[in-house]
Amino acid sequence: GYRSRAAYKLTEIDDRLHFLKPGARVIDLGAAPGGWTQVALERGVKQVAGVDLLPVDPLPPAHIVQMDFTDPACGPKLIELLGGPPDVVLSDMAPNTVGHRQTDHLRIVGLIEAAADFAVQVLKPGGVFVAKAFQGGETTALIAELKRHFADVRNVKPKASRSDSSEVYLVATGFKGR
Ligand code: SAM
Repeated sequence: GYRSRAAYKLTEIDDRLHFLKPGARVIDLGAAPGGWTQVALERGVKQVAGVDLLPVDPLPPAHIVQMDFTDPACGPKLIELLGGPPDVVLSDMAPNTVGHRQTDHLRIVGLIEAAADFAVQVLKPGGVFVAKAFQGGETTALIAELKRHFADVRNVKPKASRSDSSEVYLVATGFKGR
C-alpha cells in the first residue's frame, strides 16, 4: 500500500501525462511520508532524491534527506544524491499555516516560486515540473514565467483531491532549456 492518499493524485497526473519513465531521474520536494516517491519507484524511474522537514522511513534506492528546501544547501545536495540532472521535479510541499490569511498566502506562493526557480535551474531539456498550488492563489505571475520556460503549462485537479479543497497542481512539460 501507499503511505499517503497523495500517492493517488500523482498516479492520476502521471496517467495523463506519462513522465515517470524508466531511466528518469526525479526530485521529490516535500516527500514525507513517501507516497510520491513510492509511485515514482513503482513506475520504474532510475533514481529519486527527496527532501522533507520531517523524517521519512527509508525507501531504497531513493535518497530522502531531512532538511528545509529553502536552505540554499538543499538543492545542490539533492542533485548530488540524484547522481545527475533531473528529468522531473515534483513539489507537493505545503507550508504549515498560521491562520493569518495573508501570511499563509505569501508562504505558499514563496514555496512554489522557490520550487519553480530550482526546476528551471536544474531540469534537463524536455523536463517536467509539477507543483501543488491553491486556486485563487497569486500564481498568475508564476504561470506566465513558467510559460516562458516550458512548452505547455496547465492546471490539473486530480479526482483524488477532495472537491472542497482549493488544491490544484501546476503541471509544466517540455522544459525549453536554459
Ligand atoms: N507527496 C507526499 C506523499 O505522497 O507522501 C505528501 C507531502 S505533504 C502534502 C507536504 C509536505 O511538505 C509535508 O510533509 C511538509 O513537511 C513538507 N514541507 C513543507 N515545507 C517544506 C520545506 N520548506 N522543505 C521541505 N519540506 C517541506
